[in-house]
Amino acid sequence: MSKIQRIELFNVDIPLKKPFYPSWISGYPQLHNRFTLIRLTTDDGIVGVSAGVSFETERQGLGKLIGPYLMGLDPTDVGKINQRLKEVSYLGWRNSWIEPAFWDIRGKMEGKPVYKLLQEREEEVKEVRVYCSTGEIQPAKKRLESIDKIRELGFKAVKLRVRSATMEEDVDIVREVRKRVGDDFGIMVDANQGWLVTIIDEPPRWDLGRAISYARECERLGVLWLEEPLDMYAYDDLSALREATKTPIAGGELSAGWHELKIMIEKGCFNIYQPDATFAGGISASRKVMEECLRRDLGFSPHTWTNGIGLLINLQVYAAFPRKTYLEYPYESPGWIPASRDAVLESPIVVSPRGTIPVPNTPGLGIAINERALRKYGKKFYTLTPFRLAVQSIRRMGLKTTLELAKKKGVR
Ligand SMILES: [Mg+2]
Repeated sequence: MSKIQRIELFNVDIPLKKPFYPSWISGYPQLHNRFTLIRLTTDDGIVGVSAGVSFETERQGLGKLIGPYLMGLDPTDVGKINQRLKEVSYLGWRNSWIEPAFWDIRGKMEGKPVYKLLQEREEEVKEVRVYCSTGEIQPAKKRLESIDKIRELGFKAVKLRVRSATMEEDVDIVREVRKRVGDDFGIMVDANQGWLVTIIDEPPRWDLGRAISYARECERLGVLWLEEPLDMYAYDDLSALREATKTPIAGGELSAGWHELKIMIEKGCFNIYQPDATFAGGISASRKVMEECLRRDLGFSPHTWTNGIGLLINLQVYAAFPRKTYLEYPYESPGWIPASRDAVLESPIVVSPRGTIPVPNTPGLGIAINERALRKYGKKFYTLTPFRLAVQSIRRMGLKTTLELAKKKGVR
């Protein structure tokens, strides 16, 4: 049995070339792509990587908490891994972003890409179709300036952001883009009402009435789905909305885990489920949602807007889903572009003229880290090895207690 023998954490901070104004934080000029990167190494030298989006360096003390929980774990024991991450969450930290690193190791151990571990039948997937997920709420006139470029890049569908002061402005954005791109081009709409952030400006809050009116406008404009039109916990309103419109309703990106997503599915909140494996309970929870969507004939298209590593993780999950439509490809030039989104990867993930991205078929998650770029943008703030853990334990509890604990761990 392999064991986790080395745990490393990095703060990664990639400056953006131009400011980016995310629709989900009204009024906030984002100048950096920041995340925490975890690198786990087994006693036989297999490395697993994952990343969790961060605002600053807020996870600076996290290693001291998670280190002893994860050291020595069998990387293939998904049940135990998720149990330990749950135990860490009792102290206030949600850490399902760490869980994909274990899948990365497991894929490498079995010599398979992770999507093949998640499929019932092992079907080769070479590429998936993506939609251009814009990130800024731009008035119709401004959005039309970028829509031609988006089409030139190869995309066959675009997701527009709407959360303007009035509903008329929000309808206008979609109507003008529809006029420009014609009926054959896919349009999705995201109202970003699921998890409001009010740190700078107070964004407009939608109620059920506005969501229904807007969804009916979307029907007329041939919108493929309306995403997060209400608060993520407004389960009853979401299912009422779904009853009131033919526009498919999508959501679930930042749920806390399977326990929440299960309620949404049972209450009939969405037509399309979008759990992000770096937020919503890891790859294990995404897999459960995917299986439930298949069973109930629902859509599944994970959220991927974090960074290049998050995109690759969710790409592996999505590749395992047999009834694919489109996967989210985060892109908003000039602020959020592949060069800064994927700066620590060996090569950026680029869309093909067919509107697809390649699915890595190398073992694991297919995350090839460029070590030079990681040294440039990353700062390692935590390393744990069994020796360091022993030294820390002896300092805190003395040799006798440390030996007793070591014996217990060895027995279990
Ligand atoms: Mg969204």
